[in-house]
Amino acid sequence: MADPSETPADWSTRHSVRAVALRTVALVNALSPERPDPAAVAALLLRHGERGPLALTAAEVAEMRAAALRVREVLAAGDTDTAASALNRLLRTHTGLLRLTSHGGTTPWHPHLDSDDDAAWGEWLLASSCMALAVLLWDRQLPPGAVCASVSCQDVFLTRGAGPARRYCSRRCATRERVAAHRRARG
Ligand SMILES: [Zn+2]
Repeated sequence: MADPSETPADWSTRHSVRAVALRTVALVNALSPERPDPAAVAALLLRHGERGPLALTAAEVAEMRAAALRVREVLAAGDTDTAASALNRLLRTHTGLLRLTSHGGTTPWHPHLDSDDDAAWGEWLLASSCMALAVLLWDRQLPPGAVCASVSCQDVFLTRGAGPARRYCSRRCATRERVAAHRRARG
């Protein structure tokens, strides 16, 4: 939900393709466990720019989780062709047509794939994720995401456009795996 008091500069920072893609990854990771905590998911949405107060029901979170597991397939695709096929499947069966909205004149015009500005949270998550990941794939000709190589983590993260491919979702995972490999090497 847009804040009418934001300036266009704030808006583009918060709603850039990258910001939406980062929110997508954070939501997919938060919604992967079997029973995500609705309060934690709501807090994550607020941190990523949704306007409060915001309360989610268990049913809404269950719908968001179903959407997140579908989006996870796109982020876990190992190559560009597989990611594109996974996105095309979702675009064909789970999103509406491309449309533009200004949320009643409160934001700059931008593209949406959900059926309505008041779409349910699950539909919104799937549509906004597909939009951002399709643009990233188009722009970089790379799979938009990857799964952390740490077996104890399995979080997804956004790939970088250039430079060596990252294997771990975070510095924390990279350090833990380096320490473990060092211990194994010393036997
Ligand atoms: Zn990790």
